[in-house]
Amino acid sequence: MRKQIAAANWKMNLTYQQGEKLLDDILGAEIVLKPHQQTIFAVPSPYLLMTRSEVETEQNYEAAAQNCYHKKSGAYTGEISVEMLRSINVNYCVIGHSERREYFSETNSMLADKVNLCLEKNIAPIFCCGEPLNIRDAGTQNEFVAVQLKESLFHLSAEQMKNFIIAYEPIWAIGTGKTATTEQAQEMHAHLRSIIAGQYNSEVAETVSILYGGSVKANNAKEIFGCKDVDGGLVGGASLVAADFIEIIKTLK
Ligand code: PEP
Repeated sequence: MRKQIAAANWKMNLTYQQGEKLLDDILGAEIVLKPHQQTIFAVPSPYLLMTRSEVETEQNYEAAAQNCYHKKSGAYTGEISVEMLRSINVNYCVIGHSERREYFSETNSMLADKVNLCLEKNIAPIFCCGEPLNIRDAGTQNEFVAVQLKESLFHLSAEQMKNFIIAYEPIWAIGTGKTATTEQAQEMHAHLRSIIAGQYNSEVAETVSILYGGSVKANNAKEIFGCKDVDGGLVGGASLVAADFIEIIKTLK
């Protein structure tokens, strides 16, 4: 079975102490994950070491960076390299969140560089894609996400694409309280899988975990995660509330 993942994206929220308490509360629920299930906390970088040590003794719980720089090292004040992440045993990194694309002008080609650097250091990217509202309204969302995948991922080998993690996040559903309908989510996830199958093969496409992101809450996770091609979620707002995120983890297939 494909990996089913509940990924928390804290974004730029919570103090260190609040973050530590949130992790304690969630891990304190002692949810035993099945071998194909995983919970990943994408936390602010100053909290990575603490998060790593909190999850260290837990089976299938992981820490993720929310971003990394697209160059290896050097005079880039304030940036964080994949080598730095590797040196503190961070195994996952969110790449290409729509907020980074929009506010920090990250392009598909920069994201391709980030993906390459992560893979070189054995850090699994959680690659975000998704269309803005005007594209959805124009009905061209399928072509839009296909270009995002093509320009950032399709230089990878089939071996590298196996078990890859993608998060489909329609931008109009992020932090807005609007979710895609289960039909819209399933349709897009199936589309993503079909373009991966076209570029590689169906065997590879079937191993890729495709998470849904966009106002996933405790009360809608079951419906969304229940879709055949949805393999869990990337969760912003609801991941900041222990009781809500615990429910979401429990909803994983
Ligand atoms: C996100 O941060 O990727 C996200 C989907 O946020 P929210 O769940 O708040 O919409």
